[in-house]
Amino acid sequence: YRAHHTIPVVQEASRLLRLCWKLGWNEANGGNFSWRLPEEVLESFPRTASDPIALEHPHPNLDGEFILITASGQCFRHARARPDEVFGVVRIIQGGHAYQAVWGFANGGKPTSEMAMHLVGHAIRKEVSGGRERAILHCHPPEFITLSFVMPLQSRSFSLALWQTMPECIVIFPDGVRIVLAMLPGTDEIARASAEGLKESRIVSWTHHGIFASEEDPDKAFALVETIEKASSIQRKIMSVGGAQRGIDIAMLKELTQKFRSIMVCEPRLL
Ligand code: 13P
Ligand code: ZN
Repeated sequence: YRAHHTIPVVQEASRLLRLCWKLGWNEANGGNFSWRLPEEVLESFPRTASDPIALEHPHPNLDGEFILITASGQCFRHARARPDEVFGVVRIIQGGHAYQAVWGFANGGKPTSEMAMHLVGHAIRKEVSGGRERAILHCHPPEFITLSFVMPLQSRSFSLALWQTMPECIVIFPDGVRIVLAMLPGTDEIARASAEGLKESRIVSWTHHGIFASEEDPDKAFALVETIEKASSIQRKIMSVGGAQRGIDIAMLKELTQKFRSIMVCEPRLL
């Protein structure tokens, strides 16, 4: 018995990671996850506080936030068995200039090598979504990655191709996918390019690497990535059999967005 196994948000996040691993999206230590925790869950955490650690880039609008985040080098596959090693909680302090580890990161762990990117993502998406979005999932879904080898690296045509695979797509991700060209992971350069994409969309494609997606909670982040991966698999199959002979046309996409406007997060600006 270890007390942290019973913390509900840790259980919820662990279930997500295990599912992502099962689907082949997170091999070995691939991918990472973070969750800007809602205030009401904080009392369930037995908290300590490490020394402050300076952030290279300050995020004033995240000051005071508690963020559950995966530890670097940890496997999604192990989340249910060893949650306090796979995850930790950081608290953003000093006006967004530093953080403290307040839970988890057992056995000398530290936050994911993509933490700076996750913080940029939270800072932007908190603002854009009016505080709604709290969970960020980075994973390596194979069908989606495959498309970055064979499709033009252009956000509009890429999004359009995915929307045209199934009627649900434009309703579920009307913001489309923003393409970030192949760059070294964890660098300032990729963070800046991704930030541009995240101002417009919840979804960024890291070319030849994977997806970075923001949503309200783990379940919604999963559903978003699941839909994009399904669309990618259809698109890949279409390309594998010699290309489409016909498809959902733009007029029908426009009709879909009118019919389902009330459940969409935004207008499909790329259409
Ligand atoms: P971490 O183990 O540091 O989270 O890195 C995994 C990854 O997918 C980097 O893009
Ligand atoms: Zn990765």
